[in-house]
Amino acid sequence: MNKTIIANWKLNLDHLEAIQLFQKLNYSLDNDIDKKIKIVVAPSFTSLRSIQTIIEADKLKLYLASQDVSEFVEGAYTGEVSVTQLEKLKISFCIVGHSERRQHFNETDESINLKVHNLINKKIVPVICFGESIEQRKNENYLDFLIEQVEKSIKGLRKDKVDEIIFAYEPVWAIGTGETPSLQNIVDVISNIKEFLSSKSFFDEENTKFIYGGSVTPDNSKEILNTQIVNGALVGGASLDVDKFIKIIESIE
Ligand code: PEP
Repeated sequence: MNKTIIANWKLNLDHLEAIQLFQKLNYSLDNDIDKKIKIVVAPSFTSLRSIQTIIEADKLKLYLASQDVSEFVEGAYTGEVSVTQLEKLKISFCIVGHSERRQHFNETDESINLKVHNLINKKIVPVICFGESIEQRKNENYLDFLIEQVEKSIKGLRKDKVDEIIFAYEPVWAIGTGETPSLQNIVDVISNIKEFLSSKSFFDEENTKFIYGGSVTPDNSKEILNTQIVNGALVGGASLDVDKFIKIIESIE
């Protein structure tokens, strides 16, 4: 089964620690891991180059994601990192619209949309996070809110470009809390978003992917990851522990 598992290391680990964790992950992975499972690591910007060098030198079948990217492509934007810089580093994926960025750095749907356009132009796969807060969840119309988030993130894209995107359903209240929605709820949300994208001819059964993120652990990964509509997981906390992360990968049947 085709699944993508992304380790979001967030603001943890300096580049030496990141190399260590990456090597431990690499050595612990069973060579027999199904080739259809894509394992992606998203460290801080400062670790991308070091890990990319290892992947390239050892020809590893592991992929790199950046945790964010600038909405600007070049120019006087101190502190930003551009898609061109990520492209040069052979970064395959980029997380955009993570709720921590929306919440703490005022990231808007408009800037997420710009980032998505820029990434697609450089053939870097955007991993677009969407999800409701606990307050929004209490509102009966939270599905409309989720559809709106998705719609705004892909505004203006050519239909054939949306195929390449990974959409990550990440309920804000489930991130780092140990709480998760019911499996049926995850399935319902993804089905609704799929239906919306199909109604706009934006969905490609072969390529468009939906993953789930929010307190994924070895205890719940088997159920979540073996559900057909779920194409993988975005894993935060548990990805910093190699044993747990490997158990999550191995729970895919
Ligand atoms: C995340 O950071 O996207 C995430 C899902 O975190 P956690 O797995 O810790 O809930």
